[in-house]
Amino acid sequence: MTVTSNAPEARERVLSTLNRDGSRRWVRPKLSRGRHYRRRLLAAWALIATFTLIPILRLNGKPLMLFDIPKREFTLFGATFLPTDTFLLMLLLFSIFIAIFLVTAVLGRVWCGWACPQTVYMEFVYRPLEVLIEGGRARQLRLDAHGPDARRTLKLAVFFVVSAFLANTFLAYFVGWERLLAWMTSPPTAHPTAFAVMLGTTLLMFLDFAWFREQTCIVACPYGRFQSVLLDRQSLIVGYDAGRGEPRAPWRKAGGRTAGDCVDCRLCVSTCPTGIDIRDGLQMECVHCTQCIDACDAVMDRVGLPRGLVRYTSQAELEGGGARFLRPRLLVYSAILLLSFGALGLSLAGQRSADVTLLRGLGAPFTVLPSGEVSNQIRLKIANRTDGERSYAIELVGGEGLTLIAPENPLTVAAGDSALTAAFITAPRASFTGGERSVVIRVSDGVDFEERFEHRLLGPEPSAGGAP
Ligand code: SF4
Ligand code: SF4
Repeated sequence: MTVTSNAPEARERVLSTLNRDGSRRWVRPKLSRGRHYRRRLLAAWALIATFTLIPILRLNGKPLMLFDIPKREFTLFGATFLPTDTFLLMLLLFSIFIAIFLVTAVLGRVWCGWACPQTVYMEFVYRPLEVLIEGGRARQLRLDAHGPDARRTLKLAVFFVVSAFLANTFLAYFVGWERLLAWMTSPPTAHPTAFAVMLGTTLLMFLDFAWFREQTCIVACPYGRFQSVLLDRQSLIVGYDAGRGEPRAPWRKAGGRTAGDCVDCRLCVSTCPTGIDIRDGLQMECVHCTQCIDACDAVMDRVGLPRGLVRYTSQAELEGGGARFLRPRLLVYSAILLLSFGALGLSLAGQRSADVTLLRGLGAPFTVLPSGEVSNQIRLKIANRTDGERSYAIELVGGEGLTLIAPENPLTVAAGDSALTAAFITAPRASFTGGERSVVIRVSDGVDFEERFEHRLLGPEPSAGGAP
C-alpha cells in the first residue's frame, strides 16, 4: 500500500528507494533474461549448493567451515585456528581484506552482483518465488497501490519457510551440522536457547528478504560505501556509454539517426533491483548485477543497433581512454597479498600437531608438605590439532628427588579438542636455591609430538628459615 506522509516533499529524489515525501518506494524490478542473467543463474545455483553443502562436507575429518564462537575455534578447509592462533587469524583476515581490495580494483563489484548471498538468494530464490505467487511487476505494483491480497499473504508464508531453511544453513556454520540436526530433530523444549536462536535467525532472514531487501546493499552493507576508494578509473564497472547514447530520444522521434542510441525506453531502470538509472553514471547503489546490460541489449537488438550501450567497461574507457590493466595499486596489492599468503602458508605448514600451554596452579604458589617436601601445582592445557584422539604423557625429565603426581596421565584429548589438567610436582625443600628450582617437563603423544618445558618451581625463601 502506498504510504503518505505530511513531510514536505523533496525537490528531487534523494534515494532511489525513497519517494519524494520520504516514504518507501518499493522496487519491483522487471526481470531481463539476457545472456548475463543466464550465466548468473548457473553461478547462483552452483553457489546455493556450495553455501548449503560447506557445513556438511568434511575434510580431514573436520567440517569445511566451522566458526565455533563459544570455543573460539575456527575451522577453514581442514585447518583449525585455536584461540592461541591470534596471529594466524589476523594474518588470514588481513589476507582476505587485501584479496578483496585486489579483486575489487580489477573486477569492480563482481562479488555483489554475482556471488554475495544477499544477491544470490534475493534474485534467484525469493524474487522468482514472488513472481510465481504474486505475478509480474505490473501486478506487484498494483498490490503495492491497493493493498495486499491472499497471494501476498501466501508469498510471505512461503518466504518464512525458505527463511527457516536459510537460517538453519547459516547456523550450521556456527554450531556444526551434527548439532544442528540434533536440534532440528528434538522438541524445542529440549533446547529452548537453541530454539530461540533458530527462531531469531529465521525472523532476521525473513525481515531481510521480505522487507529490507535492496536496503541491505544500499544502506547496511559497508562494501558499497567503500567502492569509491576501492575502484579506480580502470576497474571493471557496469556503465552507460553516454557518448554513444546521448542525446537520448524515443525511437519514433529519433528519426532513425539524428539522436543518440538511447531510445529512452527506461527498461534499464525498470529492471534495476536497486531502482537506479545507470545513465546517471556510477552510483553507490549499483551492485553490478548486469540486469541493465541485458535489458538494453534486448532493446538494441529490437531497434537494430549494436549491443553494448550499457556494458561491462571502465570509467577510463567510457571517457575515451584506453584500458590499462597493470597499474601501481594492483602491483602493491599483489605484492602484499603474496607476502601475507606466503607467511600464512609457512605458519600453517610449521604448525605442530598439538599446542601445550603450561600454567601455574591457582591459589598459593607452593605448599610445604608434612614430609618437609615442597609441592607446586601446575596446569597443562593441551589442544589436539589432529583428526584422531591422542593420549599425551606428562613426565619429568631428570631432576633429583622430584615426584610428579598427575591424576590424568596420560591425558586423552579428542580430535580437534582441548583439555585442561592439573598436576603436582614435589621436590625436597633443600633442593631450592633462593626460593626457586628448575624442572623440565616433557609432554609427548608417542606419535609425532614432543615438547619440553623448563619450569621454575617456587619454594620457601632461605631467609625465612622455613616454610611460610
Ligand atoms: S535500456 Fe538502453 S535504450 Fe533503453 S533507456 Fe536504458 S540505456 Fe536507453
Ligand atoms: S544499475 Fe544495472 S548493474 Fe547496477 S544495480 Fe542497477 S541493474 Fe544492476
